[in-house]
Amino acid sequence: MESIYGFTLEMLEDYFVNIGEKKFKATQVYEWLYKKRITSWDEMTNVKKDTLNQMKKDFTLDSISIIAKNVGDDVVKYLFELADSSKVEAVLMKHDYGNSLCVSTEVGCNMGCTFCESGRMKKVRNLKTNEMVLQILQIEKDLKIRISHVVLMGIGEPFDNYDNVIPFISIINSGKGIDIGARHITISTCGIIPKIREFISDGRQVNLAISLHASNDALRSKLMPINKAYPLKDLIKILKEYIEVTGRRVTFEYVLLHEVNDSYENATELAKLLQGMNCYVNLIPYNETSHIEYKKSSQERILAFYDTLKKNKINVTIRREFGAKLMAACGQLRSSYEEGC
Ligand code: SAH
Repeated sequence: MESIYGFTLEMLEDYFVNIGEKKFKATQVYEWLYKKRITSWDEMTNVKKDTLNQMKKDFTLDSISIIAKNVGDDVVKYLFELADSSKVEAVLMKHDYGNSLCVSTEVGCNMGCTFCESGRMKKVRNLKTNEMVLQILQIEKDLKIRISHVVLMGIGEPFDNYDNVIPFISIINSGKGIDIGARHITISTCGIIPKIREFISDGRQVNLAISLHASNDALRSKLMPINKAYPLKDLIKILKEYIEVTGRRVTFEYVLLHEVNDSYENATELAKLLQGMNCYVNLIPYNETSHIEYKKSSQERILAFYDTLKKNKINVTIRREFGAKLMAACGQLRSSYEEGC
C-alpha cells in the first residue's frame, strides 16, 4: 500500500479514472486531505462507500511521528520518526514575512561536505514524497499555524532525490493541495549539474539556491567533494544558462568558516566569479558543532567579507542566525539524539 500523501493531483486523477471514477474525485479528496486535514477515511463524506473501500485497500493515511521538539523564541526544531524508525529533522523559523519550514529530503546525506553534520551520517535512503509532505502537515497541526515558505535545506541533497522531490513540490504548490506559492519554495543544492539541467527544462517557478562556500576549485573541492565531479567553471556556466532561460535570479549560499574561506582575497575572488550574474549571495554565519573543527568567522571578518562584496557590486545579505543554542544546523538534533547527549 502506498501513502496517499505521495500522490500529486494528476496521479490521483489517473488513479480515479483507472478505477472507473470521475477525474474530479481527486480534487474532492485533495480538499479532505489538504484543506480540511482529515485523518480518517470515514470523514470523506462525499465519497461513495465502494470508492472509499477501494481507496482503503490501495492507500494508507499514515502519518510520521514527532519524537523530539526544541522550542526557541523564533525557531522550533522537530525530530521525526518514520515508519522504518529512520529519523529526520525539520526546522520552523518565524520571520516577519511568515513561517518558513526547512525540510529534510533524505535520511543522511552522501555529499560529504566537511563542515556539515548531516554528511557525517551516510545516506541511508531517500525520503519518499509523502514523508516530506507530512513534515509540513504535522508541524502545521502541532503549532496551529500556516507555513508560508518552504526551503529544501534540511538533511539531504534534494537533487540526489529528484524523483521524489519534484512530486513533493507539485503537491505543496498545488492550489488544490497545500497551496504554497512557487516563489515561496526554495531548492538548495550543492551543485549536481545534470539535475540542474533537468530542473531548467522542468520549467518550475521555484527558487534555486546553490551552496557555493568557496571562491576557487582547490578550496571548494576540499570543503565539498562534489566539486571534483562538477567544478566551478561548469557550475557557473549552467547557472548562467538557468538565469537566461528562466529570467530568474540565483541565490548563492556561502557559509563563513573562520580563516578558511573568509579572507579579503576570497571575497574579491568570489566577486569576480559572480560578476555580472543576476544573483545574490547569502552569507551564513557557521553554526559550530562539537564534532567538527571549523569555527564560525569573527564578526569583523563577516562584516569585512560583506563590505568587499558590496564594494564589488554583488547583492549580498548576512543570514540572521537561528537557533544556534537549539542545535539548528543540519543534522545536529538527529546526531545528538542518536548519541544520547
Ligand atoms: N544539500 C543541500 C541542502 C542541505 S544543506 C545543499 O548543499 O544546499 C543546507 C545549507 O546549510 C547548505 O548551504 C549547507 O552548506 C549549510 N550548512 C550545513 N551545515 C551548516 C552549519 N553547521 N552551519 C551553517 N550552515 C550549514
